[in-house]
Amino acid sequence: MIPSAQTESGVVRLRGHHLLCLLTYIGKGYTPRFTAHFNRVLARIQAGEEVQLVSGPDDICQPMLGEPSCHCHEARIDHRDHLAWQAVQAALPTARAEGWHLNAEAVHTLRQAFADGRLRVGCYDCEWSKLCDGIAANGFAGVRLQGG
Ligand code: SF4
Repeated sequence: MIPSAQTESGVVRLRGHHLLCLLTYIGKGYTPRFTAHFNRVLARIQAGEEVQLVSGPDDICQPMLGEPSCHCHEARIDHRDHLAWQAVQAALPTARAEGWHLNAEAVHTLRQAFADGRLRVGCYDCEWSKLCDGIAANGFAGVRLQGG
């Protein structure tokens, strides 16, 4: 895993738990600016850019970093990332911290693991858990990231 301060063009930098959030994203988020930005990150992944694991704030966090409510640097979020990445690797051994394609097959595999609970440890202490419970229970209807 590389520190989040390092950037690489053409690669989407993600902290661990955001791999889970991508699975359930239905266009809802903290602010309109945040969701507009999230949509752009998601479009890059759908266009085939690799995703790369980083520690701390990532490409999705960017609009929140100046907000008073920003929690992106909190230790509990780092812990969530750690748990999420461990669960993702267990469910999808092809996931590589240095870079991998979150393609339709990978998304399908991860959504299965999310729905049966194997990934939910990575949702540790998240305020959105009830929303994501419902999305998974509803067969991921309305999610933005394609892939089953
Ligand atoms: S419950 Fe929170 S951490 Fe888990 S997928 Fe939903 S938004 Fe992401």
